Amino acid sequence: MTLPTESIGSIPRPPALLEGIEQFRLGKLSQAKLDALYEDALKDTIARLEATGSPVISDGEQTKSSFATYPLLNLTNIAADGVTIPFEDGHTRQLPKLTAGPFKYGIHAGAYVKAAKRYAHKPIKEAVISASALSLLYPAEGVPGYSREAFITDLIQETVADIRGCFEAGAYHVQIDFTEGRLSVKLDPSKKLLQDFIDLNNRVLSHFTIEERKRIGVHTCPGGDHDSTHSADVDYADLIPDLFKLDATNFYMQLASEKNPEQVLGIIKNHLKPGQRIYVGVIDVINPDVEEPEQVRDRILQAADYIPVAQLGTTDDCGFSPFEDDTSTGRDTAFAKIKSRIIGTELASKILNC
Ligand SMILES: [Zn+2]
Repeated sequence: MTLPTESIGSIPRPPALLEGIEQFRLGKLSQAKLDALYEDALKDTIARLEATGSPVISDGEQTKSSFATYPLLNLTNIAADGVTIPFEDGHTRQLPKLTAGPFKYGIHAGAYVKAAKRYAHKPIKEAVISASALSLLYPAEGVPGYSREAFITDLIQETVADIRGCFEAGAYHVQIDFTEGRLSVKLDPSKKLLQDFIDLNNRVLSHFTIEERKRIGVHTCPGGDHDSTHSADVDYADLIPDLFKLDATNFYMQLASEKNPEQVLGIIKNHLKPGQRIYVGVIDVINPDVEEPEQVRDRILQAADYIPVAQLGTTDDCGFSPFEDDTSTGRDTAFAKIKSRIIGTELASKILNC
């Protein structure tokens, strides 16, 4: 046995797929040919993830437009000019906004689990987007004939269906991406927004039994896009006490790229609740250098000084390409880093006798 270890989600898409997506948008490639490219990417990604020795695999988000926008597939009631998220290197990502109700997902994540199961030989973990992130789709000026309350009711129903569909399709674990948690403290230092986000996500989680919640986790990070972050300057101390109020069991936490990981581990130790499991980030997805397994091992041993081994796991700091067009990290680099995490986790597990 070893410590549990899982990746976050996204793997850089193959260049042939990115080229195909571009050609499709220009009207120069048929849907059938694009679908074939998606299928090749999915199959190859799962095979390469399994080749790393990963005990749990994912679809690498090969067929998602992004970790946050996949539910908006083919929706006609959205416009491009929603909330803008600034990153530290100066680039931005803009969310769409809702133009009419009701809000229904264009696709539920269970479809990705089903597709991955056709090729997978290992348990599958699926990442889903949080209700709190999608709550940002509702514009400040409102939507005619569709109140914010009606939107939130629909949003909760859809988020619950998204998670439940993953389990029904056979997912082993489901991870709710909550990157906006840390960002919210930057947008609203009073932390009222963070509290609202946590309350909303807990309304979603209340639809699941305790047994189901043992298989549900939450991912936190300061954002990761084009090798830049949006909220790394927010002190983890301002997030962690509230983060652990989420009624999930597993917490997938960026840590390797933190300036002072020991300080963060101390905060985790002080606020960790019984039954929670912390998957510490031991791979820095922004740094292009591939970690040595011994470096990973040492990061885990350091975490074990603060977190009981029975509540410890390992992960990467973030997905490698949360947005489909992010090519800042190569595919080979991503798989090499994941392999280092697997080997480093085995090394640490031997020392920790688990
Ligand atoms: Zn992340």
